[in-house]
Amino acid sequence: MIKLLLASQNSGKLREMQFILRDLPIQIIAPADIGIHLEVEETGKTYAENSALKAKAYAKASGLLSLGDDSGLEVDALNGKPGLYSARYAPNPDATDADRRAFLLENLRAISRPWTACFRATIAIAHPDGKIHFTEGVCEGEIIPQERGAGGFGYDPVFYLPELGRTMAELSEEEKNRLSHRAKALEKAKSFLLKPSTTGKPKA
Ligand code: IMP
Repeated sequence: MIKLLLASQNSGKLREMQFILRDLPIQIIAPADIGIHLEVEETGKTYAENSALKAKAYAKASGLLSLGDDSGLEVDALNGKPGLYSARYAPNPDATDADRRAFLLENLRAISRPWTACFRATIAIAHPDGKIHFTEGVCEGEIIPQERGAGGFGYDPVFYLPELGRTMAELSEEEKNRLSHRAKALEKAKSFLLKPSTTGKPKA
């Protein structure tokens, strides 16, 4: 069994990753399982840089293969915003996900629809010896002016998937885990994870 440490304390992401990799001989470990707690500042200028900062910090602290991810929502009419700053996109530093959705809709109100958008995710898998591998996943859709659905998190209730006729928050966990940006990035990482050169012991 390959041990893979998730470079995040987010239990939702842990569940997502466990589901997506369920058929592989990979055991995903949460930092708390091995008594590690790191606060990694996301100071990068790209999703890849931020995902690498997290993956490398956890690989170094644990000596285990570690997976970091970073993602965001990009709205075409807002020139790709909120993008890298999706988690902090609101005037108020104590804002909730609902406040951020309201702020997004406020910024779009004067612009004609459709408000095409995508979720983008980068995954970085860092080996304790310093090797790092990146994959990216994109999920296309559009922002709608009314919230729909109670599932998911973040911008899911206003992120509409035209081909399904539903928002991301109206999908089951299983459906979201098949088509989300993170799912696509992780899917692409599978072949790398299974390579013997990835999981072999680092040279002393
Ligand atoms: P991070 O990758 O955990 O840093 O997430 C960045 C931010 O992007 C989140 O706080 C959400 O606001 C947004 N985001 C990323 N992925 C999703 C998703 O699957 N649904 C809704 N919002 C998301």
